[in-house]
Amino acid sequence: MPDARPSPILISDVQETVARELERIAPLIDDLGARFRDAGHELALVGGPVRDAMLGRLQNDLDFTTSAHPDVTEKLLKGWADALWDMGRDFGTIGCRKGEWQVEITTYRSEKYDATSRKPDVAYGDSLVGDLGRRDFTVNSMALTVPDRGFEDPFGGIVDLAARTLRTPGRPEDSFSDDPLRMMRAARFAAQLGFDVAPEVVAAMTAMAGRIEIISAERVRDELVKLICAPYPRRGLLLLVETGLASYVLPELPALALERDEHHRHKDVYEHTLIVLEQSIDQEERLGNGPDFVSRFAALMHDVGKPRTRRFEDGGVVTFHHHDVVGAKITRKRMKALRFSNDEIDAVAKLVELHLRFHGYGDGEWTDSAVRRYVRDAGDQLERLHILTRADCTTRNQRKAARLRKAYDDLEERIARLSEEEELASIRPDLDGTQIMEILGIPPGREVGEAYSFLLELRMDEGPQSEEDAKAALLAWWAARV
Ligand code: ATP
Ligand code: MG
Repeated sequence: MPDARPSPILISDVQETVARELERIAPLIDDLGARFRDAGHELALVGGPVRDAMLGRLQNDLDFTTSAHPDVTEKLLKGWADALWDMGRDFGTIGCRKGEWQVEITTYRSEKYDATSRKPDVAYGDSLVGDLGRRDFTVNSMALTVPDRGFEDPFGGIVDLAARTLRTPGRPEDSFSDDPLRMMRAARFAAQLGFDVAPEVVAAMTAMAGRIEIISAERVRDELVKLICAPYPRRGLLLLVETGLASYVLPELPALALERDEHHRHKDVYEHTLIVLEQSIDQEERLGNGPDFVSRFAALMHDVGKPRTRRFEDGGVVTFHHHDVVGAKITRKRMKALRFSNDEIDAVAKLVELHLRFHGYGDGEWTDSAVRRYVRDAGDQLERLHILTRADCTTRNQRKAARLRKAYDDLEERIARLSEEEELASIRPDLDGTQIMEILGIPPGREVGEAYSFLLELRMDEGPQSEEDAKAALLAWWAARV
């Protein structure tokens, strides 16, 4: 599993990595640094890119902090940058692109977070150290001044980085009072970097979890998405559940942990869910697009209907009838509350709703008609449904697992074969609306729609038909109608 604890980081390795990364960005930071210096301003690479340079995971996004105010920054970038944007101006940020580099330059800040407001109050600061002191974690509070390349690390970020630990620059309680979103960010960075969160920080998160409620759903969602799409999502999710944050932002997840029945006859649905998530991640290359949020979130939500549908039948049998349908409903509601787009909501809910369908397949008992319906109902989520259904097998019984795998291989082969023969993905009735109206001699209206549905059903049940046969069937249906 990708969650194995990474080995400790050696400072000598960090030095080497940084030297290499600096070499790569030297042309840009030297040039830009000189521009600001010549205008009498300070400029420093800060936060994520400094941390990531040390970890050897620096991408092409470079964040800087500066003593210059945004209008001055804008002037200094004009004529140098290839493109410029200022959507962040109210927050002190000017962005630009220079070659392959995305640059964001933000004026020193000394903001306080007003606990009753949803927006941070921006107040410009006057020193680099002051700016670093208001950042979330010590590993994000390091800076490299340019062009002179001075290393600024007032809170011991490099020590915490070597120990793979997330710690706040000041007291965590004060930090989380200023901005409760930082509690989510702790879990997100734990998931992204594979770091531990310092015990006093976990304690503060636990004590203050409820404060997350003042944060807008959009900001919470963005952190949750980053956490779920990270290399170690289990780490972040465990932390959210342990601290109680999940009870506010994703209550369906801790609810699964209550599902263990007294006799331990039923698997712990919570642990099962985390394994399904990891098994789904293992298959993501099928989609060929890197981390896939929809697929991962569907894995996380696929059983959320279980707590509400659990019944204890006679003889100690536990059932979860319709937990797929109920789960899809719960998923929609949660994603709506977190302000996800309708497309994302539809995709995840569809996967949750269909995740059990394959269980009727047995050893290949489905008719071609059932296979067609499966493909049609999955629509553009078919590939993800393959992933989820396969991931949903967490039995330790090797023989059972192998049998399920083989049955699913078989289903996929049948889908491929039928698709080749019939263009399954775009199943349409054998006659179109115009033909229906002509054959029945009726004008556009509800009846044409009904005839169309009838032909579509027929097409699914019987496969493609000749125009003659379809016409005969349509007329028979029409005649039998009252
Ligand atoms: P990435 O961009 O890879 O997700 P990052 O560390 O750059 O990671 P951002 O959210 O882009 O994270 O934030 C940039 C920097 O700004 C952080 O490294 C941190 O120093 C600071 N920061 C961002 N959000 C907060 C916050 N809510 N409270 C305090 N500091 C923050
Ligand atoms: Mg960033």
